[in-house]
Amino acid sequence: MLVTFWGTRGSISTPGPQTEKYGGNTPCVSVRQGSTIIILDAGTGIRELGLRLMREYEKTGSPLEVYLFLSHTHWDHIQGLPFFAPAYLPDTKLHIYGSPKKGRFLAAILEKQMDTQYFPVSMQEWKSQVTIEEIGNDGVDVNGMRVVAEEQHYHPGGSIRFRVSSGDANIIYSTDVELDAFVAGQSADTHEAQQVHTAAYKAFIKDAELLIGDGQYTADEYKRYVGWGHSSMPVLADAAASCGVKRLAVFHHDPMHSDHFLDRMAHHFASEYTEEESPMSMFWAREGMTLSIG
Ligand SMILES: [Zn+2]
Ligand SMILES: [Zn+2]
Repeated sequence: MLVTFWGTRGSISTPGPQTEKYGGNTPCVSVRQGSTIIILDAGTGIRELGLRLMREYEKTGSPLEVYLFLSHTHWDHIQGLPFFAPAYLPDTKLHIYGSPKKGRFLAAILEKQMDTQYFPVSMQEWKSQVTIEEIGNDGVDVNGMRVVAEEQHYHPGGSIRFRVSSGDANIIYSTDVELDAFVAGQSADTHEAQQVHTAAYKAFIKDAELLIGDGQYTADEYKRYVGWGHSSMPVLADAAASCGVKRLAVFHHDPMHSDHFLDRMAHHFASEYTEEESPMSMFWAREGMTLSIG
C-alpha cells in the first residue's frame, strides 16, 4: 500500500512561507494499491489529489473508481470535496462512507455544504456515479484492502477511526480525538469509562505498521484546550509506543505551528524515539510525503 499525505494541517488551511515544509492543506490521505484508490478525509488537500487523478485519467482513459472515507464532517475534513475534480466526470464512480451514527444525514450534510448560500455549484453538478453510505460494523472490502471503522468518543460531535489493511499490513487513521481525556485520564468521566475507551483504542492501534494520529498540541498547549477534541504529542507518542506501533505519523498540525516549530518538536522527540532506543519511529506528517506499507 502506498500512503500519500495531501493535507496534514488541522482546523483551518494555513498557506504561506511558514508552513511550506509540512504543508497548509487540511486532512486528506490517499492509500493506493495497484489501481485501487482509498481516500481518508476530504480536507483541502483533496483538491490536489483530484488534479493528480485527472491527469492519470487523461493519460490512460480508464474511468476512476474512488473510495472516500470520512472520519467526520467538521469543515477541515470535508471542505475540499466541492473541489474534487473527478466528481464532475460522468464515468467516475465515487463511493463515500461515513459514520453510522449520521446515517442518511451524512448525504444531507455534504449537500448542504454545496448549497448556494455557501458555494456556487450544487452537488447536482456532480456527473459521477456517487453513493453515500454509512460504514457498518463489518467494514468494507475494497479490492483486497479492508477498511474497518470504530467510533471515537472524545471529540465534540464524534468522529471515527479507520484501519486499512492488506494481508498482514495495516494502517490506522485516528485523528480528531482527545487521547489526553481518556488515555491520560483528564476527563471528568469515571475511571471505568476511561479504561473501557482506552482499552478499545489500544486494541485498535495494536501493532500497526503505521499510525496516523492526532498530535495537535504540546503538553503545555493542551492545558489551554481541554475539551476541544485534540491530543497532545507526548500522550499520543506514549500510547503508540506502548502498543507496538512501528511508525507514528503525527498529524492534524495546529495552525499556529510553523515549520520551524514542528522541526523543533521532531528533534525533541527524536531523542526519545530513535531507532536504537525504541522500535517505533516517530515523525511529523508532511504534505507530499509518500510511504510504502506492507
Ligand atoms: Zn479536524
Ligand atoms: Zn473535528
